[in-house]
Amino acid sequence: MTSAYLIRGASLPDGTVADVRLANGVIRDIKAVPAHDAGRPGAAQRVSDAGRPGSEPAGTVAGATVIDGSGCVLLPGLVDLHTHLREPGGEEAETVWSGTRAAAAGGYTAVHAMANTFPVQDTAGVVEQVLRLGQEAGYVDVHPVGAVSVGLEGERLAELVAMARSGARVRVFSDDGHCVADPVLMRRALEYVKAFDGVVAQHAQEPRLTEGALMHEGAVSAELGLTGWPAVAEESIIARDVLLAEHVGSRLHVCHVSTAGSVELVRWAKSRGVHVTAEVTPHHLALTDESARGYDPVFKVNPPLRGAADVEAVRQALQDGVIDCVATDHAPHPAETKECEWAAASFGMTGLETALPVVNELMVETGRMTWADVARVMSEAPARVGQLTDQGRPVAVGEVANLTLFDPAARRVWDPASGYSKSTNSPFKGKELHGRTRYTWLRGRATVQEGKVVERV
Ligand SMILES: [Zn+2]
Repeated sequence: MTSAYLIRGASLPDGTVADVRLANGVIRDIKAVPAHDAGRPGAAQRVSDAGRPGSEPAGTVAGATVIDGSGCVLLPGLVDLHTHLREPGGEEAETVWSGTRAAAAGGYTAVHAMANTFPVQDTAGVVEQVLRLGQEAGYVDVHPVGAVSVGLEGERLAELVAMARSGARVRVFSDDGHCVADPVLMRRALEYVKAFDGVVAQHAQEPRLTEGALMHEGAVSAELGLTGWPAVAEESIIARDVLLAEHVGSRLHVCHVSTAGSVELVRWAKSRGVHVTAEVTPHHLALTDESARGYDPVFKVNPPLRGAADVEAVRQALQDGVIDCVATDHAPHPAETKECEWAAASFGMTGLETALPVVNELMVETGRMTWADVARVMSEAPARVGQLTDQGRPVAVGEVANLTLFDPAARRVWDPASGYSKSTNSPFKGKELHGRTRYTWLRGRATVQEGKVVERV
């Protein structure tokens, strides 16, 4: 792939319309253009004509591929704090290769790969294996998350320091899928990660309060006769953990906040100066427990889809900064474990390819957030939580060219079978997606071109 690009007339996160030049893996030049000049029809063609016809491929000028970016927004490459890539051990659902292609297609340039693989990512050897698989695939930076406990069993602390010092330089630790329920183990994990400014990402689910739980506890669960999953099962763990983080003076990250009460606890902890960050998933921003009425297990997820007041609370919290990040919790599952009866089905939904369109529809088109806010919650803040250095950076001259060009006006009906994930358990199947990733660049190399993942040879 050519390493030079000229993106003409795209909007930057701050609303400036500019021509942006990428070369040798960095942003070389940004030239603001008058807004009335942007979106001029045939602009790309004229530039290409101005080149030397016959000596360069169509759509290039001075060796750079020219892209008409009018109507599109150029964002820092998205960073996901919460991706299940399933490899090693779950390759029937996803591989590092397929999952990172889905990530690139969704506009991501970095993902944090959750530790609940087989074997579990609880040693330096396994996290280095996942790191290497990510590098070989070459679509996004893969940052392995280390398990908090050996085998995710919640009993003995895993080798946190060895994983932090390994080639994978692990900074985020989580037993996600399981809650670190033992308060002593949680305290010790917070103490260990403090030494290298790591963070413990908690899947807040009090195990006794959720035994056999199948969906959010409320009027709908009572009506459907499905065992309820009370909000307090999430909130009681968050309350305990923010107090532990304060006591230890360490960093806590709360995964997939789903209730209004959880938002209030995070708000309270932040007001006390506790080092806590929080994420919300696109599906918890978009969907309620009413989705369970058809008993379609595509809507079965952990934590469960909540009530309408909870959904409004997490939207408001993302808007006002109490929730720091959008994270996908991309959780691919093979058809046989999702296309069965509700009680037997696995928890989880895919999300990498739909996250940005969902955020665009719910938060940007409604006027609740700007593109600068989207850059903050989907790139800058998650990169900061994960201690990444060349991700989540401003779109500015001299910065590494980790970027995504998103067309917010594009419309398409989502068919997950046409996507890049190996699994199709998307709750947005058949829905109209608001926007599409046109290009993604990883250190200046296009991983996605006009919506298609670039095949590597
Ligand atoms: Zn989780």
